Amino acid sequence: MNNRNVVLKLTGVERHYGQGETLLSILKGADFSLRTGEIVALVAPSGTGKSTLLHVAGLLEHPDAGEVTINGQNCENLTDEKRTAIRRSDIGFVYQFHHLLPEFSALENIMMPQLIAGLPWEEARERASALLDYMRIGHRGDHRPAELSGGEQQRVAIARAVANAPLVLFADEPTGNLDPETAGYVFQALEALVRQSGLAALIATHNHELASRMDRRVTIEDGKVVEF
Ligand code: ADP
Ligand code: MG
Repeated sequence: MNNRNVVLKLTGVERHYGQGETLLSILKGADFSLRTGEIVALVAPSGTGKSTLLHVAGLLEHPDAGEVTINGQNCENLTDEKRTAIRRSDIGFVYQFHHLLPEFSALENIMMPQLIAGLPWEEARERASALLDYMRIGHRGDHRPAELSGGEQQRVAIARAVANAPLVLFADEPTGNLDPETAGYVFQALEALVRQSGLAALIATHNHELASRMDRRVTIEDGKVVEF
């Protein structure tokens, strides 16, 4: 595992909220590396900074200090345009609630990032359809999010997150609102997809059973990322 590419590296990442006396220090020099093919669980109590860490690592927010390196490139001094481009091509994001576009079908939701990336419609459709099949919801392609179960919605959201073949997948409590059995299925699908495509994943979860199935487990302690 050690000779694989480091696709994500956080160095001395700090994130503080508020000002003056009400300053809230959430990340205080967090270091973390993620390699190709790895699935790492981020397990920590609510309010410790899991989402903050994922947002900074996923280039949705800037750190107040420190660096985020994606595939060898330090992203801190890049223009917003360049950061957006990296986000679109190299990063996939899954949230606790699916965030699918309600007026579009499952298939169209998965096609969307590919169309934005400039892929031809037919190609996007074929890949979206293959991903739906892979997630075992091929028969649900024409349904809108509201017509799908929670587990199906999350599988569509995962398919959408990997549609552009990113290098890193971030998932923020992706099974947090599912019952344990469905959470197990959804995680299994996510895991198979990550294993098969060779991407890397950092997954925030409260579910210790799921965390135990991942390659490594980290937590946030005093604003730093520690292995446990
Ligand atoms: P987690 O995902 O582990 O529950 P978060 O990263 O969402 O934790 O939040 C960590 C802490 O930072 C919380 O106390 C939260 O209230 C605070 N926080 C998060 N975002 C902001 C913000 N934009 N402004 C002020 N405080 C914030
Ligand atoms: Mg959170």
